[in-house]
Amino acid sequence: MSDFLKLEKFSIGVGDRFAHQAKAQLRACMMAAQHGVEVIPVWNKSNREHVTIGSEPASTRAAADAAVKKFGWRKPYHVDADHIRLETVDRFLPHSDFYTIDVADWIGKPTDAKAIGSFIDCHPELVGQISIPEIERLFQTTMAEVECIVGKYLLAVQEAGKIYHHIVNIKGGESFITEVSMDETDHSQTPLELLVILAAIADEKIPIQTIAPKFTGRFNKGVDYVGDVVQFEKEFNDDLAVIAFAVKQYGLPETLKLSVHSGSDKFSIYTSMRRALARFNAGLHIKTAGTTWLEEMIGLAEAGGSGLTLAKEIYVGALEHIGELCAPYATVIDIDQKKLPSATTVNDWTSEQFVSALRHDQSNRAFNPHLRQLLHVGYKIAAQMGDRYLDALKICESTISRNVTYNLYERHLKPLFVAGREIGKNETR
Ligand SMILES: [Zn+2]
Repeated sequence: MSDFLKLEKFSIGVGDRFAHQAKAQLRACMMAAQHGVEVIPVWNKSNREHVTIGSEPASTRAAADAAVKKFGWRKPYHVDADHIRLETVDRFLPHSDFYTIDVADWIGKPTDAKAIGSFIDCHPELVGQISIPEIERLFQTTMAEVECIVGKYLLAVQEAGKIYHHIVNIKGGESFITEVSMDETDHSQTPLELLVILAAIADEKIPIQTIAPKFTGRFNKGVDYVGDVVQFEKEFNDDLAVIAFAVKQYGLPETLKLSVHSGSDKFSIYTSMRRALARFNAGLHIKTAGTTWLEEMIGLAEAGGSGLTLAKEIYVGALEHIGELCAPYATVIDIDQKKLPSATTVNDWTSEQFVSALRHDQSNRAFNPHLRQLLHVGYKIAAQMGDRYLDALKICESTISRNVTYNLYERHLKPLFVAGREIGKNETR
């Protein structure tokens, strides 16, 4: 494996659709630093977001650099070409030092029987009894089971290898961070599947530092986890055990850690995650999807006047184009259309009513997760407004940035990393 840029232990993927909130996002990481926890910001934006908005990867880099310069942030930071594929990676190459290679579409595609056979010949350790430290039960596999798993994932990992080596070739000596993501698919991956995937990744000589599997349960955009929290915690622990084992067994980078996509707003599993990270002394990359964009909407609405009017207009536009907006996100949203307020209702709302419905405060009875998810996928409506939207971001800057920072720090960094330390201390006392 060639030399690679090392990723720090804790990192947060901050999405910033319109590239206006980098400073407010960085401030949240600075607050964590003030509380003694280093969480490194990674500005990520996918090709899909760039296409929807009509933006260029250079703008993500420029916004990140400007924020870092303005606040004198001396720790590392990164710019992630999120969910790239061989056809979409090139335009990110001059601007990104972090690449999330998305091969979910290759999972389950027919794989050559010879390739499966030779993989298994090289990995006799995967057939039979597998004992992984920190997992009590033994994994017992048959040849047929392993063949089935390899058949499902080998092609996807080989594709990841192709993309990784393509990036290396073009970037020359410049080092970068590599993530492989398999989260945007219908079926979650078991810890055993994760082990096979990591063995295959090592064979491809990808110095992987973050892996994004699909976890059990639903990770809907902008709202809380839906699923069995106990089962999630068990699998999350097993995944951490598998990663620690694979690092040693296959010589993968010591810095390898889990990446949780759509990880923002999953408040009900943060305690489970925090406990597991402490148990394994493991790192984490948490990607926050569009939670910042929703804070922009909240800030606009909270500002009242023209900001509130614009926020209402975006909601009404999203309601009119609901089918088209939701289609690309079908596997990651659950909207009950009957629970969406009508355009007439919303047009009568005060700032407080709009904010209460949208802000992710589950203790507020006016909170509406359906409206929140619709607005989450509704950023295209704002993009179509062009300068009108961007000007509003500038006019309402103070209310927006306050909400962006508060959301990232209080609802995300604090329960996951900062409070975790304090509670961890109490528990050992
Ligand atoms: Zn993702």
